[in-house]
Amino acid sequence: MTHILAGAPLPGPGATLDLTPPGVVVAVGAHPDDIEFHCGATLARWGTQGAVVHLVICTDGSKGTWDPSADTTEVARARRTESEEAARALGATGEVVLLGAVDGELAGAAPGLHDELVATLRRLAPDVVVGHDPWRRYRLHPDHRAAGFLTVDACVAARDPHFVAHLGSAHRPDWLLLFEADEPDHVEVATPEALSVKVDALLAHRSQWRSTMFIDDVGDDEGRGRFTDGVRDAARLVGSAVGRPAGESFRRLAL
Ligand SMILES: [Zn+2]
Repeated sequence: MTHILAGAPLPGPGATLDLTPPGVVVAVGAHPDDIEFHCGATLARWGTQGAVVHLVICTDGSKGTWDPSADTTEVARARRTESEEAARALGATGEVVLLGAVDGELAGAAPGLHDELVATLRRLAPDVVVGHDPWRRYRLHPDHRAAGFLTVDACVAARDPHFVAHLGSAHRPDWLLLFEADEPDHVEVATPEALSVKVDALLAHRSQWRSTMFIDDVGDDEGRGRFTDGVRDAARLVGSAVGRPAGESFRRLAL
C-alpha cells in the first residue's frame, strides 16, 4: 500500500552492520511489494551470496488500487502474478507463500494464519526471518502492524518445541530483522547492483505504478527515473547514518 521511505527513523552511529550472509531467509510482508520496498536490496545481495530466499505475503493485495470501480478479484489475481515476477527479479529462488488474507483485514485473519506461518517457518528452517516492526509508532496501516505481530509471534512459536507441538519439529532462526523499524539498530549495506535489482523487483508490481510509485505508464520515463532516484536516495540516507554509501535499516532481535 502506501510506502514512504523518506522520513523513516534512522539508525544511530552505533548500529551493527551486515549479518553473516544467511543460507536460508524467510521474509514476511503484509502486501505484495512490502518486502521489496523494505528489504529488497538486502535479499538481492544475500541471493547472490548463495542464500535461498523465501517470500511470505500475508494478504491478497486486492485493495491496492485507487480505482473505485476495480474488480478486486482481478486486482488480487494480477498481484499474484506480479509477486512471482518480482521474486524472480529479486533472484529469490525459494517459495512464494501466499497466506491469502483479504487486503485490509489481516488483523482479523491473523489468529487463523498463526499456525500456518509457524508450520511454514519450521518447514523452511530459515537462519534469518525478516518482517514488519509491529511496534512502529504512528503507523497507520493496520495490515503492517498485524503482519508484524503475526511474524514475531510465529517466530517465537516456531522455535519452542512445546508451542503447537503437532506442527513438526521446532526450528530456531538465528535472527529476526524488523523493517520499517521504530528504533533501527542494524544496517545491511546495499550495493549499487542490489539497489538496481530492488528497483527492478519493485517495478514488477505494475499495478502499483500509479498509486504507490507515481509512475503513469510504460512511457513515463521521468516518473520511473524519479522513483528510482527516490529508492536510491532513501538507501543513501540510511547508509550515511552509519558511514556507508547505502543500506537498509532494521531492528535486530536474536531468537
Ligand atoms: Zn503494505
